[in-house]
Formats: sequence, structure tokens, C-alpha cells
Amino acid sequence: MPATLTAPQVAPVVLIGELSSWERAVALYVSDMPTGYRYQGREDVNLLAWIEQGVIRLGRDEVRRRASFLAGYRRVWGRDLVTPEISRRHAARFPSARRLNAAEDSAAASVLSLAPVVRDLPVVIDGGCPLCDGTRQQWATWVIDAESEWYETGFRPCTLCQSKGGAA
Ligand SMILES: [Zn+2]
Repeated sequence: MPATLTAPQVAPVVLIGELSSWERAVALYVSDMPTGYRYQGREDVNLLAWIEQGVIRLGRDEVRRRASFLAGYRRVWGRDLVTPEISRRHAARFPSARRLNAAEDSAAASVLSLAPVVRDLPVVIDGGCPLCDGTRQQWATWVIDAESEWYETGFRPCTLCQSKGGAA
């Protein structure tokens, strides 16, 4: 924790710079932002206000939780591994795919107005990892030296649910 400031501070309720683009997308999804809204450029104060509104509505922890699930969903989706259960939970959380796309686009654009401080957001697959079935590891073969046909096999962390990064 940073040192506590003793001087009275008028801090904004939500520090948008601390929100990753996943978190901003979650906030925008539940905000009053019109689904057809188009980014107005770097000085787009409306967008930042809607992000703030969404965070106030959901609460910081819930925004982060949903953002983790969204990042997890996108990772699974990107590898074409979405299961019916993952899809069901995702759709329950984000019933409108169109609005979610709009929220994600605007969240990505908002980074131009206010870059996020890079922080780790846990990537969570809600509905079970389709690759490792929750064991968090995979049996894998990797090449040490192809010429001499030297291969090793063993368990390694699941490449889907245990890999880091890509969550900003
Ligand atoms: Zn896994």
C-alpha cells in the first residue's frame, strides 16, 4: 500500500487510469453510454464519465471480477474453445453481444484519452477450462532439439487458463 496522505484530498471517486481496458469495457456496458456511441477523440469526456458511472453502479470489485471473466472468455473465444457452459455464463453476464462489442471498442479507444497503469488482471475462465478440465496443467511434448529428435514430455501449466499476460 502506498503511504497514506494526511492532507485532505479531493480525489475523484473512480481513478479511471487504474482501470484496465477490460474493466472499462465492463463499466461501459452497464453505463448509460448509447450502444451506437462513437468515440469523439482524445478529449472525449463523456466516455470517461460513463466509465466512472459504470464503476459506481457495479462497485470496483464487481467490475474487476467481471473483467476477469471477460478476459477469460475472450481468450477461450480466440482459440475457438467456448463450451456451452462458458457461453451460457458469459451471455448471462453480457446479454447483448452488440453492446459488449461497443463497450469493448469504446474501452479500447479510451486508452487514447487516458492510458491505463499496467496492472495484472487475473484471467478467469468462468465455466471450466476446456483444455485442462480444471487440473491447470496439460500433458505436453516439447522439442529440445529437432535434429537429434530429442523430445521431452511432461506436465506443464495449461496454456489456456494458466498463461499470464494479455489481460491489460
Ligand atoms: Zn486450463
